[in-house]
Amino acid sequence: MAKITLSGLGKSYAADPASDAAWALSRLDFEFEDGGAYALLGPSGCGKTTLLNIISGLLEPTVGEVQFDGQNMNGLGPDRRNIAQVFQFPVIYDTMTVRQNLAFPLKNRGVPAGEIERKVAEIAEMTDLTEMLDRRASGLTADGKQKISLGRGLVRDDVNVIMFDEPLTVIDPHLKWQLRSKLKELHRRISRTMIYVTHDQTEALTFADKVVLMKDGEVVQIGTPVELFEKPEHTFVGHFIGSPGMNLLPCRMDGVSAVVGGASLKVANGDAAASGGGSLELGVRPEFVRFADRGVPVQVVRVMNAGRYRIVDTRTMNGETVKLLVDNETSVPADNARLAFDPGYARVYRDGWLAGGRRTA
Ligand code: ADP
Ligand code: MG
Repeated sequence: MAKITLSGLGKSYAADPASDAAWALSRLDFEFEDGGAYALLGPSGCGKTTLLNIISGLLEPTVGEVQFDGQNMNGLGPDRRNIAQVFQFPVIYDTMTVRQNLAFPLKNRGVPAGEIERKVAEIAEMTDLTEMLDRRASGLTADGKQKISLGRGLVRDDVNVIMFDEPLTVIDPHLKWQLRSKLKELHRRISRTMIYVTHDQTEALTFADKVVLMKDGEVVQIGTPVELFEKPEHTFVGHFIGSPGMNLLPCRMDGVSAVVGGASLKVANGDAAASGGGSLELGVRPEFVRFADRGVPVQVVRVMNAGRYRIVDTRTMNGETVKLLVDNETSVPADNARLAFDPGYARVYRDGWLAGGRRTA
């Protein structure tokens, strides 16, 4: 078990990285606490796999260090770091049985036979492989093989960290949900540090205690799922997390109030936004917008039924879209509609970053 520290960590695949764009990861500084359940979340190409492979020692960083409990790991291969890594696509021994595959990481380390048998049975149960233990791995379907990969990642309990790189890509949707809850349950039981990579917000938010949201090789925000939902540090977080994502409206400041479409609105960070340059936007999630007698004048464009509530698309006089969630008991005004924003959850962003937030304070 270990705390994992990334210190000034950067990676470029180019031999001579001149521009920022040449960096697949740029200057990461943060810590994975020992025993935490983390999700690395971000769109394809943002550097998630690169980061995992640097932590595991498959790749060397261009600059900076990876430390386990304060000890520099640079230059040490994966076998010296005591980690388990599950890749996006199955990595198994085709000629062995499922049982032999699961037992392999333990046998390799001289774990006593009785203990191996017990662990293999437990992991097989968890990954739904019990019936197949004596089949040859090569005969299994793609998702069966991936379950073996998962099982092999989970079978040792002496590792510093277990890392999963989009492990459920080839698993069918129903089983996906089941395996994810099992991983979560396992994390609670063994409290091993786990880092789960995904581009899917639902997977990240249901698995992780802490989500590390990445974009273009940078960490944009680290926080609990609630923090990322309630207080996005960047407009990208607001847009990437949530469904539909956060509304963004160009605005200007009048004292500590934001002005949108002629309406003056209270916001949570008015003091911080009151002075300073840059391009300003007001961000508010659809959950925190409602119809009111006073506020931003809009036209209702579309109403979509989403079961227990409706998603209403509206348009401001400037042609910007604002979405809001409306419960089934509330009526949607036919005309002269106005919107009010919950001042506790409406915030001003300066050049994309939260005014007065971590990056602009
Ligand atoms: P993710 O896992 O988030 O999809 P990756 O870490 O795979 O992202 O990739 C990050 C960036 O690095 C991308 O721009 C990708 O094209 C580039 N990249 C990844 N692997 C290599 C490689 N072996 N050689 C050159 N560029 C690479
Ligand atoms: Mg990847």
